[in-house]
Amino acid sequence: MKKTIKCPDCHHPITIDLSTVAVGDIVECQYCGTELEITSLKPFKTAILEEEK
Ligand SMILES: [Zn+2]
Repeated sequence: MKKTIKCPDCHHPITIDLSTVAVGDIVECQYCGTELEITSLKPFKTAILEEEK
């Protein structure tokens, strides 16, 4: 099952294959590089991983 979310930063869609991810995994927006941590699968939730620059 695939889930499409919107990048909270650049609003591009990010497609995530739910069978390959787990809570705590990091997905990266391929457009802007924002990293999202998966905080819940049911319901699917992500949180922006703050990157130190
Ligand atoms: Zn993005």
